[in-house]
Amino acid sequence: MGKLAIITGAGQGIGEGIAYRLAEDGFAIAVVDIHPETAKKVVENLVKKGASAKAYVLDVSDRLAVFELVDQAVADLGALALYVNNAGVAFIDAIVDSDPSDVERLFDVNIKGTYWGIQAAAKQFKKQGNGGRIVNAASLASVEGSALQSAYSASKFAIRGLTQSAAKELSADKITVNAYNPGIVRTAMRDAIDQKTAQIKGLTVAQQQENCLNEIYLGREGRPSDVAEVVAWFASSAAAYITGQSILVDGGMRFH
Ligand code: ADP
Repeated sequence: MGKLAIITGAGQGIGEGIAYRLAEDGFAIAVVDIHPETAKKVVENLVKKGASAKAYVLDVSDRLAVFELVDQAVADLGALALYVNNAGVAFIDAIVDSDPSDVERLFDVNIKGTYWGIQAAAKQFKKQGNGGRIVNAASLASVEGSALQSAYSASKFAIRGLTQSAAKELSADKITVNAYNPGIVRTAMRDAIDQKTAQIKGLTVAQQQENCLNEIYLGREGRPSDVAEVVAWFASSAAAYITGQSILVDGGMRFH
C-alpha cells in the first residue's frame, strides 16, 4: 500500500489526466466519478500501467457518500496523502434565462462538493497526524466573471475563497490547500460550453473556438496534462511551503 490520492471527477477530462500523472509519481489512485463506466475504464488504464487504483462511484454533493469514500479508500489503498476536488459541472446561459434547477445543481456539486471533500480529507489528515495536501479545481472563471457563466464563475470564486480559508485554518496541522485555474482545456465540458455559447451568440462552433484561441498568448488550447503537471507539483515535496495559492494554467490568457 502506497500513498493514496483521491481524485474526484477522474473518469474523464482533466481529472483523468491528473490520475495518470499522479500514478507516475507512485500514488495509489482512488478514481471517483458519478459515472461508473468512465471510472472503471480509467482504473483499467491505470492498472495496465502498473498502478494501484480502484473506482468509487458517488455524487460529491452527497456529504455522507464523501465521508464513506475517504474511509473506504483508506481501507482499500492506504493512508491518504492527497485529495483532489476536481469534480465539477458547468452550464452556459444568461442570468435571466437560467433554469433554477441548473443553478442549484451547479452550486451543490461545485461548492458543496468541494466543501465536503475538504472537510472529509482534513478530518482524515488530522487523524493520521502527518500533514496532507488538498488541491481544488478553481478556474480562470474564479478570477474574472464571464457573461453567460455567472453561476459557474460564482462557484469558482467560492472555491478560491474556500482554498484560502482552508489553507489558513489547516496550516497548524501541516495540511496545504491550493487550487488550479484552467483556462481553455479541450474536454467534454469545454465542447458543451463552446456549443451553447456559439448558439446563444449566433456564431458557429468553429468561430467561437477561434475567438477563444485568439485570446491565448501561447497559441494553443490547454491539455489535461498541462493541468496535471501543476497538481503533481502541488502534491510534491517541492511545494511543501506553498499554500492558499491558485495558479492559472491558461497559456497566458490572463494575469492576476
Ligand atoms: P473538465 O473540463 O473539468 O475535465 P468534464 O466534464 O470533462 O470537465 O469532467 C468532469 C468530471 O466530473 C466528469 O467525469 C463527471 O462525470 C464528473 N462529475 C461531475 N459531477 C460529479 C459529481 N456530482 N460527483 C462526482 N463526479 C462528478
